[in-house]
Amino acid sequence: MALSETGLIERYFRGCGAQRADVALGIGDDAALLRVAPGHELVAATDTLVAGVHFPHGCPAHSIGHRALAVNLSDVAAMGAQPLWALLALTLPEVDETWLEGFAAGLGGLARQHGVALVGGDTTRGPLTVTVQVLGQVAAGTALRRSGARPGDTLFVSGTPGDAAAGLALEQSRLQAPPEAAAYLRARFLLPTPRLALGERLREYASACIDVSDGLLGDAGKLAQASGVAAQVEYEALPVSASLQAAVGDERARQLALSGGDDYELCFAVSPERVPQLESALPRAVWGYTRIGTLSVGSGTTVTRAGTVMEFSHSGYQHFS
Ligand code: ADP
Ligand code: MG
Repeated sequence: MALSETGLIERYFRGCGAQRADVALGIGDDAALLRVAPGHELVAATDTLVAGVHFPHGCPAHSIGHRALAVNLSDVAAMGAQPLWALLALTLPEVDETWLEGFAAGLGGLARQHGVALVGGDTTRGPLTVTVQVLGQVAAGTALRRSGARPGDTLFVSGTPGDAAAGLALEQSRLQAPPEAAAYLRARFLLPTPRLALGERLREYASACIDVSDGLLGDAGKLAQASGVAAQVEYEALPVSASLQAAVGDERARQLALSGGDDYELCFAVSPERVPQLESALPRAVWGYTRIGTLSVGSGTTVTRAGTVMEFSHSGYQHFS
């Protein structure tokens, strides 16, 4: 017997995320009632994943659930904020209970890991599309923005960008790699890690921050543009994982680090006086970030290699170009 919409919500989504005391009213009424802590601003972000556009058809349900939340948590991380609540608008071609179980496990697992409650949503029939909205809070006036960087600031990135783009290529059989490297890279695409703890700590040190979803070079360029500065990224400084190098070689690895998508790392700027404070409070070896360049007076983004400017055409993945 086909599950009704109400039955589906009850079975898979009520209690799917964390339980929170600041949820006055969650799933079951016309809207949720939520309590923001005094002295805080409400933070809101939403992102949609469309089958065949943002993930391959046939992608594991668990991964789709995880990624739909992770991409939103990454936006909240880039603001230095704490995620608290999520809403889920789910468009399904059919009610497939095995799929729903995997999807709810992927989304719910990540939600519980970060203390995020699922407080509502919408369920409709149509081509597979997942929209998640994450709501959170940040102490008033302390959120990180893209626009705060100044000439002279140092540019950093967390993690090893490019891995997820290779992982997607492996998923789609456009790339082959040694088994261990392939498993690591696929996981970087299928189960990205939103950098929430880093984002929250960066409020103390960073002048600007953006999450890297469409390629590091393009996203660093957005930060620079919002801040009214130019960005220089050093090719040799780009952090590339051993797995990515094993899969595609060093040259291609660096190109993917610049232009690949779906990394969900943080790119941030820090003023020169604060760099030593950052590095002693958040040791690089523990927090996994790397200095990749500098910001200066002017506009535009350049990549330098051995001191000379590289020609580089990819400025980020464009969905509609
Ligand atoms: P309405 O028609 O008033 O919008 P629904 O019947 O669609 O209400 O939803 C009933 C309740 O279930 C609401 O609280 C809604 O937020 C929640 N809900 C619906 N779909 C989902 C979903 N996919 N995930 C989480 N909550 C959902
Ligand atoms: Mg209603």
